[in-house]
Parts: sequence; C-alpha cells; structure tokens
Amino acid sequence: MRIALISEHASPLSGAGGVDAGGQNVYVAQVARCLAQAGHQVDVLTRRDHPDQPAMTVMRPGVRVFHIPAGPACFIPKERLLPVMPAFTRAAEQLLRHGPRCDLVHANFFMSGLVAQQLKASLGIPYVVTFHALGLVRREHQGAADGFPGMRIDIERKLVDDADALIAECPQDEHDLVRLYNADPARIRMVPCGFDAGEFGPQHRLRARAELGLDLAPDDFVILQLGRLVPRKGVDNVIRSLAHLPRSIPARLLIVGGDGPIPDAQRTPEIGRLRAVAQEVGVEDRVHFIGQRPREALRRHYAAANVFVTTPWYEPFGITPLEAMACGTPVIASAVGGLQYTVTDGVTGHLVPPKDPEAVAQCLSHLHANPRLALAMGRAGMRRVRSLFTWERVSQMLLDVYGEVLDTGRRAELAHHIDLHDRPTLKDFSAVN
Ligand code: UDP
Repeated sequence: MRIALISEHASPLSGAGGVDAGGQNVYVAQVARCLAQAGHQVDVLTRRDHPDQPAMTVMRPGVRVFHIPAGPACFIPKERLLPVMPAFTRAAEQLLRHGPRCDLVHANFFMSGLVAQQLKASLGIPYVVTFHALGLVRREHQGAADGFPGMRIDIERKLVDDADALIAECPQDEHDLVRLYNADPARIRMVPCGFDAGEFGPQHRLRARAELGLDLAPDDFVILQLGRLVPRKGVDNVIRSLAHLPRSIPARLLIVGGDGPIPDAQRTPEIGRLRAVAQEVGVEDRVHFIGQRPREALRRHYAAANVFVTTPWYEPFGITPLEAMACGTPVIASAVGGLQYTVTDGVTGHLVPPKDPEAVAQCLSHLHANPRLALAMGRAGMRRVRSLFTWERVSQMLLDVYGEVLDTGRRAELAHHIDLHDRPTLKDFSAVN
C-alpha cells in the first residue's frame, strides 16, 4: 500500500515536549516507521515551518517526509493555522496528483482532515481520520481559553460524516465522537497509541539516577512528571500535592518538558507560572525543572523515578503513562480520557480525580510506604503495555482499518461497474421478446 499520513502541525521529525509538539508527532513518526517495516510506502505531509527544511527528506527506508509550503516558513501556533490550510491543500494535491498513486490518506487532527476531505473530492482517495483531540471536548474544559476558531467544530462535524473511517484512540474518545458529534458507531474503529520497545524498557533505578547526574540520593522518593507544559496537563496539581506530603518523605519532583532544553520562563512561560505555584505552597526546594529532553534520554528519567504522575484535566489518549509502564514505573493518573483505559486502578498504579492534589498525595504516600506494592504495580504495567500497546500492534490494527476501507471502496466500485455494464437494459428485454 502507498499511504499518505497528513499531519499539518506535528512533524515526525521535530522533538516532542514543546507547546505544540507532543503525542501527535510521536504517533506519526512511529506509525510511519511500523507501516514501512511492514512493507508499505509512507509519505508524511507536514507544514514547512523552518526555512532550512528541504522539500522532501527520507526519514527512513520507506518513509518520506514532505515539507509542504503553506504560509511563512516559521512556527505558527496551531490555533492560527487554519487560514494557511487552503495553500497546504493545493500543494498536497499537486504532490499526490503527479506522484505515484496513493491508496489511502490517514489524516491527523482536524485541519489535516480538511485537506484529506478535499483530496478525496478531487482525486478520489479514501481517508481515515484520527482527531487526536476534539474541539468540543477542548471547549468543555478550556472555555474562553480555547484559541481555536469556531469553524473547527463545523469542520469536525463534516469530517465525522464524510471520512471513510474514524479512528478513536480510547473508549472515551469513541464515546465523545458519538455523544458530541453524533458519529455513526459503525464507522468508528478503536485503535490506541503505543510505545516503542526499542526506546523504553526497565533499567536499574540507581544506575538510571547516576546517569541523570541530578544528585539524587538512593532514598529519594523521585516523582516524575513528563510532557508538554501547558495548563491543561495539570502540572500545578502535582506540585500542590507535595505540600500535602509529610516532610519525612524525601520527595523530589522532576518536571521534564518545555520549549527547549533550558528550563527558563522566557522560552516556556508555563515554567514561570509553575515556579510561582511551587513557591506559593512552599515546595520549591523539592521541584526540579529539567527542560525538554530528546527521546533517547527519556528512558533513564522514567526508570529513575519511583512513580510517574500525570493529572491532566482531560486527555485524548496520553502516551507518557505507556512509556512509564514500559520502564516498570507505577503511574498515578487522573481518571480522565485515555488514562482510564491505559492505567488499571490498583493494579498498574492509581487513578485519582483531576484537580485533586490531596488525592495525589494520598497515593504517593501509599506507594512510598509500600515499596513492594509499587514494584508489583511497575511489573504489572510492563506486562500490560507489552501485550496491548506496542506501536507494531497499533500499526497492524490501523492496517486492518485501511484494508477494510479499501475493500469497501472496491466493493462499491464493483457494484457501480455491474450497475453500469451488466444490468439488463430495455434493449436486452426487447431482444428476448
Ligand atoms: N516528550 C518528549 N520529550 C519531552 C517531553 C515529552 O519526547 O521533553 C514526549 C513524550 O515522551 C510523549 C509525548 O512527548 O511521547 C507526549 O505525548 P502525550 O500523548 O503524553 O501528550 P500530548 O503531547 O499528546 O498531549
């Protein structure tokens, strides 16, 4: 199969951890990798957001990344990208019209969905969509802080009706598509996100701590928070939880993520806000901002931690808990979105209500007091992600959906063909008579 993955703002080549670079970048990179390893040809189409980017880069054998010119070749926040999407669509159409025949488009996020919808209309290529986040869910939680144009919702509604299949990432995503967008459940397929076993696996905790060079003592109770630093991730909630822990617990909270490797408030304003929260509740001596880290450095952060905590207000899927579990680290997560599906409460970690620092503190104390339980939870998490959430499995599930869409298309084409050529005409009847 020749598959086009469209991901307008999230390039598989850029490092994750900044404001607009996270799970979607990882998803596109990993799905492309696994599809190519399974023998398919993958073209990723992403917006050119730096003047040095070539028109096309070979990411790995079987995967080409096209930098599509649309608007100025610089970073534009995703909330302001919609106006450049017509230019993106025109360039994408040129590329696919003149290149080898593309069998299927997999669009990521609503703006890429819009491109796919137009490519289907002009070139007849079927498409599936993974929304990664839904406008109405975001609006429910972010209210006036949601900077996306209102048109996003109309676009999503149209895609829900028009796409050949909708990929929901977890049961909550599926439920939201039906509840908020009136999606036909028969056209939804649930395919989760994954982790890469080449990147994440268990490592000796003390060795990992030594490698980090952060002056962590063997007895320190290390709590890890890792991901994009945006308010909805609820990092302030984790910071506040420290104030509810007894001082006898030698807690150290490591916060990985931000726009660049240096954790300063200039580049990542959220760091300034979080520092102020730590000061307000008197825990600044226990909070360490690490900055954004490249993929190869993440494993030792997860492995060095006693526990991984993520307490967003809402979460379409949430890849980071899978990565933590793959490294054998128990997870405390808020009981929202995909986290309810990936973290098994009481088995691989704990689920807590969002925006509830005391509940986080109770779980932290419990795990600190029961290191054997924490170890068992880490092991259970490792087993769970290895059996359910590898990118190889995810990609196979996606290939099944692609196959289904193409088969349906072929059947429709055949029916159309039979209809046109084989249906007895009046002339046939008159000949018989
Ligand atoms: N990430 C990273 N470096 C960082 C911080 C985060 O590579 O410094 C990665 C993290 O490992 C994960 C992704 O960014 O793979 C975040 O994905 P998730 O689904 O958890 O959140 P999203 O960004 O989609 O909201």
